[in-house]
Amino acid sequence: MRWSLLLSLALAGFLWAGPAASDEVRVLRTATGNVERVELEEYVAAVLPGEIGRAPREALLAQAIAVRSYVLGHLGRHSAADADVCDSTHCQVYRGRHAVTKVSRQAALATKGLVLSMDEKVVAAPFHADCGGHTTRPIDVWDDQEVPELPPVEDDACLQRSTAPWVFRLSRSQVGQLGQKLGLPGSRYLEVYGRDGSGRVSMVRLAAPGGATLVVRGFDFRMTAMSLWGWDSIRSTLLDFEEEPGGYVITGRGHGHGAGLCQVGAIQRAARGESWKEILGHYYAGADVRPLSGLQPLVAQARKPAGAAPVHQP
Ligand SMILES: [Zn+2]
Ligand SMILES: [Zn+2]
Repeated sequence: MRWSLLLSLALAGFLWAGPAASDEVRVLRTATGNVERVELEEYVAAVLPGEIGRAPREALLAQAIAVRSYVLGHLGRHSAADADVCDSTHCQVYRGRHAVTKVSRQAALATKGLVLSMDEKVVAAPFHADCGGHTTRPIDVWDDQEVPELPPVEDDACLQRSTAPWVFRLSRSQVGQLGQKLGLPGSRYLEVYGRDGSGRVSMVRLAAPGGATLVVRGFDFRMTAMSLWGWDSIRSTLLDFEEEPGGYVITGRGHGHGAGLCQVGAIQRAARGESWKEILGHYYAGADVRPLSGLQPLVAQARKPAGAAPVHQP
């Protein structure tokens, strides 16, 4: 632990409740079940390379603040395991302290202690790979937990990089596999059953010969497809289905859930000269960037009691 950090946190009276130390994040290592205690800024520096990789400096700084805000907004998310967050895409990808790079450490240091806040709370800031031209409201993605109230925004920056849609073909038997996992074995047909304000598919209806149907959330549909065919299968819910003889052609834009910061857009914005403040101001409209010390009593209360961890990422 760095004495300067310890001293500054102690001076700020920054001692949050619970078994974890004041400046630690308790990370559940999913492969072993062990809980690793990591100093907050070390955690931010270790997560950055796995979440955004190589990026211009201003995009990295914006992402560092989002990573710090996200983890502080999710303290105690894995409290059943005496942990705050897990090391997988469910929370944020943490591969261990060895993942820290010189560049990621500099980004954590340059933004040390800065978080996104709204209504005197740290914003559990969501982020994703590529919004496909406009972001969505977090509440339209996750309805099973407290999520920040962020307005959807247009994004020309990621479209500057690419407007080409992705395509994924789904055979009738694959529709059956999806149905099996989602609760309607024998499914053969699909249709869009609802869209949210950003145009993303919020509800999908599956149907089986004989008339049985099942309506599922778009988020669950995509997560199930990704569990079967990988991260590059149904990349987002900003999509359309088109029936063809053997099944469906799915075309879509973007990659990821679409809420909060768009990484492709943030990189493009940094490349065209925007600052981290401008980048955060675009994707987290209505949130302020503040030093954590001013929010510490609320962060202290944020470590949630034991309970199940809802699905959040990616
Ligand atoms: Zn998790
Ligand atoms: Zn975007």
